[in-house]
Amino acid sequence: MSADCIFCKIINRELDAEIVYEDDKAVAFKDINPAAPIHILIVPRKHIPTVLDMEKSDEDLMGHLHTVANEIARSFKIDKKGYRIVINCGADAGQIVFHLHLHLLGGRPLLQTIAKGRGV
Ligand code: AMP
Ligand code: ZN
Repeated sequence: MSADCIFCKIINRELDAEIVYEDDKAVAFKDINPAAPIHILIVPRKHIPTVLDMEKSDEDLMGHLHTVANEIARSFKIDKKGYRIVINCGADAGQIVFHLHLHLLGGRPLLQTIAKGRGV
């Protein structure tokens, strides 16, 4: 828990979000400014600022976040058509929230947008 982290606040229900999944290690909620019809953020309950800050002991957790992303992709029925999982790390990647998160994006073809704007 980091006191001034908006994602920690969402995890602790101090800030509203449309939560679509949670378990003992992860929480997932809809992105407030979606870049695709399906845009879900998957976050660990543990406050890790960036993927660069993950430790060896976080490897299982990182795998779990991907399993959760796949489960959500199935539940939102974008598994067959495909989806993108993105992790931004640091300034050049455009990371604006420094609590590690996976973006799950889908619901439209994403190929043409990879080089544009938000990189999704
Ligand atoms: P990143 O650039 O990887 O740090 O992405 C952060 C994402 O968090 C952006 O896509 C924002 O739209 C999203 N975001 C910021 N604040 C909130 C919030 N309160 N609830 C849901 N999503 C948010
Ligand atoms: Zn946090």
